[in-house]
Amino acid sequence: MSLASGLEYLAIPGPSVMPEAVLRAMHRPAPNIYEGELVELTQRIIPRLKHVAQTDGYATIYMSNGHGAWEAALANIATRDDRILVAATGRFAHGWAEMARRMGIEVDILEFGDTTPIDPQRLQDHLSQKPSDHYRAVLITHVDTSTSIKNDVARVRDAMAQSKTSALLAVDCIASLGCDRFLMDDWGVDVMVASCQKGLMVPPGLAFVFFNERAAERQRRLEYVSMYWDWAPRANPELFYQHFCGTAPTHHLFGLDAALTLIETEGLDNVIHRHETLARAIWAAADAWGQNGALRMNVEHPNHRSHAVTALRLNAPDGTRLRHWTQTQAGLTLGIGLGMSTPSDPQGDGFFRFGHMGHVNAHMIMGLLGTVQAGFVALDIEHGCGALDAAARVIAQG
Ligand SMILES: *Cc1c(COP(=O)(O)O)cnc(C)c1O
Repeated sequence: MSLASGLEYLAIPGPSVMPEAVLRAMHRPAPNIYEGELVELTQRIIPRLKHVAQTDGYATIYMSNGHGAWEAALANIATRDDRILVAATGRFAHGWAEMARRMGIEVDILEFGDTTPIDPQRLQDHLSQKPSDHYRAVLITHVDTSTSIKNDVARVRDAMAQSKTSALLAVDCIASLGCDRFLMDDWGVDVMVASCQKGLMVPPGLAFVFFNERAAERQRRLEYVSMYWDWAPRANPELFYQHFCGTAPTHHLFGLDAALTLIETEGLDNVIHRHETLARAIWAAADAWGQNGALRMNVEHPNHRSHAVTALRLNAPDGTRLRHWTQTQAGLTLGIGLGMSTPSDPQGDGFFRFGHMGHVNAHMIMGLLGTVQAGFVALDIEHGCGALDAAARVIAQG
């Protein structure tokens, strides 16, 4: 009999678990969009967003999902027939590349596969063979949510510097902002995109583009920037409505304010540390399960793994069976495998993901792991023992 009735737990890599404080802040009448509270709130939000991104540069807010942030960034980086390079470690890098192509931008892709991060030396070698102004930008994902690979952004920037390229570095932090350490200015990132529904714990609908003076200066020399996506008036509005090129995303701003307060109350360092510890608890459990059974984490080296999402595989179709069981029998929804089908598993039925981003704590992760353990038992999926003990030890050490 199903035991799913009760508090549902959506453990997919976005949208993440919505905090009550965020939902309560959004449950209110519409504010005046011309003056007063909302105007002041927006002005307060901008520096706090920059703190989460660790930048003194510019922050802009768009009413869109992450795909909109991709287009917003591209519209301010390049125009038709300009060339960019995408260093790919999963499905999302390819998504960003496809969007650029559809905007008429010439895209080269450097493929690093689905299990290992960008190799800085290979990137450097590729860039070194080109004239320094060959590419307008190099695009990477900090964390690719399909593979759960985390790239070393500082080393990518270093490789670019060694190659003498003048390209901007643009980073997709949609799955990592507020989860994995990210130092935009220290790491020399020129453009960064994020959205609100993952580590930032707000229902989907807001996207963010951060950029530095270097990127701003390049943007001013572009032949053409479409009006809606133009980041300049959004970053330096003369009138309030220019922040959003129209009506403000009123309720989402109240939600975002509450979410930023949660982050500030806990402290950004603690938020990052919590994500890291919870991720290590998951890895410890996965290692134990894998000792006797088919379960494998997609990314072998811990330094290359996201702290916000973990991609795993079982023998097909056990991934799909497990997801179905946890959802219908226990009220826990796990993430599907995305873009990870193989010749032996064309539907990707072995693959699944845990989302552990944003509003998650120790008891939720122990609950997730315990529920997966129950699923293994119920479905007769072979697994090693001691997984929950291993996770408990990580949690106990904090
Ligand atoms: C979720 C995600 C996206 C896409 O965001 P949407 O809000 O679904 O458009 C892009 N990149 C990464 C790394 C993501 O995790």
